[in-house]
Amino acid sequence: MHNKMIGGGFKKVLYTLNTVRRIGVKDAAKALTAHNACKACGLGMGGQRGGMINELDEFPSVCNKSVQAQSTDIQGPIPLPVFEHTIDEFKKLTSYEIEHLGRLGTPLYKSKTSDSFTPLSWDDAIAKVVERLSTSAPERSFFYASGRSSNEAAFVLQLMARLYGSSNINNCSYFCHQASGDGLATTIGTGTSTVELADLGKSDLIFVLGANPSSNHPRFIHQLKNCRERGGHVVVINPAKEPGLVKFAVPKSAKSLLMGGNEIASEYLQPKIATDLWLFKGIAKSIIEHNQHDLTFIESYTNNFNAYVDDIKKTTWEDIQNTTGLSHTKIKQVADVYAQAEHAVFAWGMGITHHLQGVENVEAIANLAMLRGMLGKPGAGLLPLRGHSNIQGVGTMGVKPVLAADVLNAIEEKLNIKLPRDKGMDTMACLHSANEGNIDNALMLGGNLYAASPDSKWAERALDNIGFKVFLTTTLNLGHVYGCDNSESLILPVMARDEEHDATSQESMFNYVRLSDGGIDRLDNVRSEVDILSGVGERLINKNRFDFSVFKAHKTIRQAIANIIPGMQDLADIDVAKKEFFIRNRIKHTPEFNTPDQRAVFVVNQPGVKSESDHAFKLMTVRSEGQFNSIIYEERDSYRNTPHRHCVLMNEDDIADLGLKEKDKITLRSDTGVMQNLDVIAYDLPRGNVMAYYPEANVLVGQNVDVRSRTPAFKSVPVSVEPQVMIGTI
Ligand code: SF4
Repeated sequence: MHNKMIGGGFKKVLYTLNTVRRIGVKDAAKALTAHNACKACGLGMGGQRGGMINELDEFPSVCNKSVQAQSTDIQGPIPLPVFEHTIDEFKKLTSYEIEHLGRLGTPLYKSKTSDSFTPLSWDDAIAKVVERLSTSAPERSFFYASGRSSNEAAFVLQLMARLYGSSNINNCSYFCHQASGDGLATTIGTGTSTVELADLGKSDLIFVLGANPSSNHPRFIHQLKNCRERGGHVVVINPAKEPGLVKFAVPKSAKSLLMGGNEIASEYLQPKIATDLWLFKGIAKSIIEHNQHDLTFIESYTNNFNAYVDDIKKTTWEDIQNTTGLSHTKIKQVADVYAQAEHAVFAWGMGITHHLQGVENVEAIANLAMLRGMLGKPGAGLLPLRGHSNIQGVGTMGVKPVLAADVLNAIEEKLNIKLPRDKGMDTMACLHSANEGNIDNALMLGGNLYAASPDSKWAERALDNIGFKVFLTTTLNLGHVYGCDNSESLILPVMARDEEHDATSQESMFNYVRLSDGGIDRLDNVRSEVDILSGVGERLINKNRFDFSVFKAHKTIRQAIANIIPGMQDLADIDVAKKEFFIRNRIKHTPEFNTPDQRAVFVVNQPGVKSESDHAFKLMTVRSEGQFNSIIYEERDSYRNTPHRHCVLMNEDDIADLGLKEKDKITLRSDTGVMQNLDVIAYDLPRGNVMAYYPEANVLVGQNVDVRSRTPAFKSVPVSVEPQVMIGTI
């Protein structure tokens, strides 16, 4: 096993410098120092303070993910002769190769019967979008956005879709953090973080639950290191022992590099995959049994505690231990650390949400926070670690199938329009509908819906069943060439955030809104997303109902957002004041919650009935160090020491029991699909649990979703591990 690995270090510095060198020092410096929000993860950097500076004025706040994201944008246009190749030839490229063909520099069209893309003019492209949408029933279209887009583009997208008559509007969080929003809504009445970045600096305990920030939110590691340095604890709960969470050499700190890295986790629990609810009940049980809960907080600011305690008391230690694979002693150790903390923050990632009970997992975390009064005060609270840089903002702007009643009413009143009130379809429902032949059009703002979907073969068929698809994108990805063989596609090249002619805004996972200036000129035939969407809106929607030409100016959109979306009032004068801000009423430094009686609510939840399966193993799909969402930058995973992505990571005793050794070839089989020729790699995981890389392993992930958040169970897939008999050895 590779337990000597550490995260970060000189290798990261060298990798970043090499990337900078490859894209050109001048171009990289220009992109990194411009007044724009970081394009990668949801932690948030840059903006009006200048690139590489965070909201606490810390410099340099930058990481390799940020540089990687810039590296794809700072490319020349794909030469037109490249499009003489057939779509089947494009399919032979890897995810990295297709992204690195260059920037998309011209609109592309593929007819239903063609096997290649052809460049076309912007006028023809916009005319096609308007013609297809206006000749189809609105309920047979869907609209989708990733977290790359700005608040302004997201607001225009959802407004245009609703005025057109479709509520089938959703964003990529339905495949990642939707359960966080839903679980926070039932417990504290809000859907986002209750803490700001500064709170992490005041905490003496940070829980990192089902997340691997060393690879996915690199600057978050600094907060963990700082917490340890001031004597605090970092409790990591993750089935896999991730090297970057054990020890991390912080590239910015010479001391950290020289001493070979800082210890990050003070306690590390490795429950079996999908047993989090049991573990959280175990921690609560220990706290309650030892009278370590904060009864004053509970009685003053929460409801439903008695029902919660009854349930916890009924849950037996035997069941908790058998299910999680963790001893009572180990769970009590962590509960005691929690009991001694004065300011605890609970941070979590998709290891919590990518399950059939993702919402219940989040509710159980909120219950734990309430139990010790770790809500409603500085330095303590709840923090979902969001993926893409503006995914939270896209949701705030209303890119979702059901708008909150107050937002819907405000749009109607302030813009003097009427919108449909029916519930739209979420992402999985749209794909099912497409598979059944009930979707004519899909308009997708960024992202790679094909790669992000479970059951890849089914997703490809579903997408190909959509008559006409429009993609707004900066670069090509595999989602543009899979699922288009028998249908019509249009790919429209858009400006990256730092190229926009008009400033845009973004919201971080701390509810902090940044203004990005744009203004860097790279390509001459790309357009702003807002320009494209408002252009379509102008021609699709009768001017008497709403005149989308007013929304070509981003400032006008910001005024509308400030008037309509709760907490966004400060956006109104951001163009003049240049003052970035926290969305009002979200950060909870006092114990007043957004529920009707302002009290938080304990939720009693039951772990689901264990499903019967013939498969002996449980798989979680994971991202690698050299990856951002579905974009692969490096084939090897330098933290897990895997040479390539076509491998399965598993416990060394399981490997031995199967009569295998490292590097042997195996087949992974689920009820949904098969992956062959995978290399076996030993890894510190519980017995019976395995890991493989997302999105490749999505062929194994079924279509089952968490019934409440509609999120597929990407991290809880029953699989069989089959030794592969090599031809010639029989
Ligand atoms: S941690 Fe996230 S927001 Fe900060 S620089 Fe890295 S990718 Fe950007």
